[in-house]
Amino acid sequence: MVGSMAGLLAQSGIESEVRNDILGGASGEIAPGETWVELWVLETSQVASAREIILASLKQPEDGDWQCGRCDEANPGSFEICWNCGIPGNG
Ligand SMILES: [Zn+2]
Repeated sequence: MVGSMAGLLAQSGIESEVRNDILGGASGEIAPGETWVELWVLETSQVASAREIILASLKQPEDGDWQCGRCDEANPGSFEICWNCGIPGNG
């Protein structure tokens, strides 16, 4: 996912670098929260726009996404129950 973010930024002319990806293969040993890789924007002046691009891409609903009627969280179409509150919602 971080790799695709880097690609997205590259399309906008923003150079970035993925760090900490050395931990990517060790998720069995490490809590998920610690396996997050970091995306570093090389040009400091581009950090703000890079952040906006990424936030916008995260908000973009994909086909089949659905929104939970109870907590309003967005869920991927592959989820049958809300990841946040656990109620069935898809279809
Ligand atoms: Zn929910």
